[in-house]
Amino acid sequence: MNLLPFGELPPFKKRKFVPQKVDWSDWKQIAPLFDKLEQRIGASKSPADLERWLLDWSELHAALDEESSRRYIAMTCHTENTEAEKAYLHFVEQIEPQLKPRQFKLSELFLKHAARKQLPTTRYEVFDRDTQVHVELFRPENVPLETEEAKLGQKYQKLSGSLTVQFRGEEKTLTQMGRYLEEPDRATRQEAWELVAKRRLQEAEKFGHIFDELVKLREKIAVNAGFKNYLEYAFRAKRRFDYSPGDCVKFHDAIEKEIVPLQRRLQAERLQQLGLDVLRPWDLAVDPMNRPRLRPFEKVEDMVGKTQNIFDRLDSGLATGFRQMQDMRLLDLDNRKGKAPGGYQSTLNEARLPFIFMNAVGVHRDVDTMLHEAGHAFHALATRNEDLYFYRSSPIEFAEVASMSMELLASEYFEEFYSDADAARARREHLEGIVKFFPWMAAVDAFQIWIYSHPSHTREERAAEWLRIMDRFGDEVNWSGYEPARVNLWHRQLHIFLHPFYYVEYGIAQIGALQVWANSRRDKAKALDAYKRGLSLGGSRPLPELFAAADCRFAFDAETIRPLVELVRDELEKLKRAS
Ligand SMILES: [Zn+2]
Repeated sequence: MNLLPFGELPPFKKRKFVPQKVDWSDWKQIAPLFDKLEQRIGASKSPADLERWLLDWSELHAALDEESSRRYIAMTCHTENTEAEKAYLHFVEQIEPQLKPRQFKLSELFLKHAARKQLPTTRYEVFDRDTQVHVELFRPENVPLETEEAKLGQKYQKLSGSLTVQFRGEEKTLTQMGRYLEEPDRATRQEAWELVAKRRLQEAEKFGHIFDELVKLREKIAVNAGFKNYLEYAFRAKRRFDYSPGDCVKFHDAIEKEIVPLQRRLQAERLQQLGLDVLRPWDLAVDPMNRPRLRPFEKVEDMVGKTQNIFDRLDSGLATGFRQMQDMRLLDLDNRKGKAPGGYQSTLNEARLPFIFMNAVGVHRDVDTMLHEAGHAFHALATRNEDLYFYRSSPIEFAEVASMSMELLASEYFEEFYSDADAARARREHLEGIVKFFPWMAAVDAFQIWIYSHPSHTREERAAEWLRIMDRFGDEVNWSGYEPARVNLWHRQLHIFLHPFYYVEYGIAQIGALQVWANSRRDKAKALDAYKRGLSLGGSRPLPELFAAADCRFAFDAETIRPLVELVRDELEKLKRAS
């Protein structure tokens, strides 16, 4: 039974090194391929030999990656199918742990190779420096610590996922409770918000304890690897070659100066529109004019058709890509029983084709998700001709420029989905969401920078620092009577627990996306060409060059941010009148 929505997808290039038939569940068939690569690199002498070897390694990487993606897609499209789940777990638990040391060995052999320094610099410098970091940070004594870290992460997820409340006689998850914050009736919103806040507070001690353990572990990992603290280790491990903690601190300052005032102004407007005297934490998600939810489409086919219309109007090259994805059934978009929640874009690395998964139910969020994931898919399509596996994806800071730009560029054509007034409303919500994101992002990032540069802090000091940060990036919301909930607000942010420091990337990318959008308002065709040029580089060049190719500056200081915020502010002013 074929559990994949798409049919046969031939590899983009015929395999030269990997045999045509491999049972990827059987380590005994995979290991000899690594043996061969280890022997081969010993025998290769010239830079040309080494380049060929890298392509063979790439081919193996791509085949393994596609296998993992296929199993993941099959499982998420059919959660009730135990075979699909078993196949995925087998790969994750039995195959992947054996791959890691073998891949590491190949990285080491590459770095030791005599011809490495003779490889063309521009072509290989990014791969070379990434490989160096991979090898340089590895410490065998950190392996069990990382396992422990992953276990604590699971504990956090399990605890968060298990929380429910009794709401009007029904048990509800905290995620399910989110929709009641959009209710026009204020008392309902307050009741829902209080229940959730109270439930989280009951676990505050546990969340705090998990986090204490994580900080201790991470500090140990950093020291083992020869770093002063986890902050410095994490920047290296995340291959942040092109910006420092100091740049992030400047980014926070710029957000405080340029964006927080606009955020406060928008909330003051909200307060006025809602006709309230004071804005409370449960007043932030409701439509300020108490209108019903936007209904962009009834059926998923409509969503796809209208999205296609938008791309047709935006750019013929991108439009062709999206049409091909439909023809090849590389989209599984409708919400149905037996499907995992959420949405993602995954790349089938041998076919070099993107796949989009989501659960559309007919709300505006679906449109945003569709456009966002389509941006990632365009990125994957743009790098199809790149033969080096490692360069077919880019760092998150730029990968999210591809997706976030597409949300902004496509929002210009929301009339495909809505009346003029509703299109203006959807654009306004989108831009307000961008404004709102930056201060929260800055708070989360500033908090983590403080935590890992003060690893021996007490819980009291941590709470005090969080409150200081909340005041700094704070808003017009009145928290009185709910102070304990505010002190522990960061418990909700999964990244702080599971993916330390992984958050500022979205802020950096959004600054890039806003630049692409600003460019498109001056000259649409030129901006689209630059966007596609940036995408086509994949991960083959350092971040500043990827941004430059897309006609953006890789900068997130006040000077870069100011004109973008002015554009957003003026646009919001216009939309306010139109919606
Ligand atoms: Zn994304």
